[in-house]
Amino acid sequence: MTRQTMAPITEPKNSNSTILSQKLSSVSGKYITIPNIPMCEKHLLQDLDINGGSWVDSMRASSPTHLKSITSLTPSAFPLELPSALDMFKHIINSSKGKQIVMFLDYDGTLSPIVDDPDRAFMSDAMRSTVRRLAKHFPTAIVSGRCRDKVYDFVQLPKLYYAGSHGMDIKSPANKGFKYPKKSQEVVFQPASEFIPMIEKVYKTLSEKTKNILGASVEHNKFCLSVHFRRVDENKWNELAHEVRSVLEEYPELQLAQGRKVFEIRPTIKWDKGKALEFILESLGLANCKDVFPVYIGDDRTDEDAFKVLRDRGQGCGILVSKIARKTNASFYLQEPPEVMSFLQRLVKWRRESLKRRFRL
Ligand SMILES: [Mg+2]
Repeated sequence: MTRQTMAPITEPKNSNSTILSQKLSSVSGKYITIPNIPMCEKHLLQDLDINGGSWVDSMRASSPTHLKSITSLTPSAFPLELPSALDMFKHIINSSKGKQIVMFLDYDGTLSPIVDDPDRAFMSDAMRSTVRRLAKHFPTAIVSGRCRDKVYDFVQLPKLYYAGSHGMDIKSPANKGFKYPKKSQEVVFQPASEFIPMIEKVYKTLSEKTKNILGASVEHNKFCLSVHFRRVDENKWNELAHEVRSVLEEYPELQLAQGRKVFEIRPTIKWDKGKALEFILESLGLANCKDVFPVYIGDDRTDEDAFKVLRDRGQGCGILVSKIARKTNASFYLQEPPEVMSFLQRLVKWRRESLKRRFRL
């Protein structure tokens, strides 16, 4: 892994406020922790055992369609025990006082609804407009398992950071005139470049092996792959699991995790959405700054890496997007993309009002 492609670290200088001050405040940017949240990290990001026999159960649990089945699959309603980020909005804002808020947003299931056809996971114009306004006030990054180009095509906003392929393909906003990063040099970081030929090969093999399983599709995300089974009849899940397993047995350099009705195949390098979050903070010149308040919003198991980084750093907060029970390192929940939009709109409104107040003084 190399960081040679990374631009020089931006020196945050904001003459209008002390928000970006390099002086470390005596009050650190604490991660908002709500007591008594059950956590079991070992299970949070547990990759599937490709030799194990519980694939179909795991596939069934990955994104239950009917609320009726949730109770039986998940004994405790963890997200429901988390406070809502909307209910706790004032608390979150108070915790961020004097700190630079940095926004990290997953795409599928967070900004866009989960749909049967992953190629049609469009975000609404209202959501796009909200994210555009958000990015005017806070450095904002989209962090997705998708190929970066594809997620950019969905979002279509140039002033954002984009981290595709689960953070293995990061690009900063394209230069000058933008508030972040301060310097005009573009940041591009691709720590898994050497895996491109292997991913290409596995993509072809998996596409061939799954072509007769109705509804299955393999998505090429450049540095990783997604095998979607949302549209596959449950009777065929065993067959699909067998095919995926048989291919991956030939590639110990690749690991498998499960998202919402999708298998995620990616290199075994120590890089994930949490590392991407840290990298982006670093490129903003905020990695070692205590006066930073990162907010990460996501719905997927892979987003837990980022929630955990924030929890370990003791900064900001993680917000899980979920209507169903799940173990998580997040501190708050939002139920679905419309609630995410409401939260983001409130954040923009609060920021505008606080700026107005500041200029009046
Ligand atoms: Mg997602």
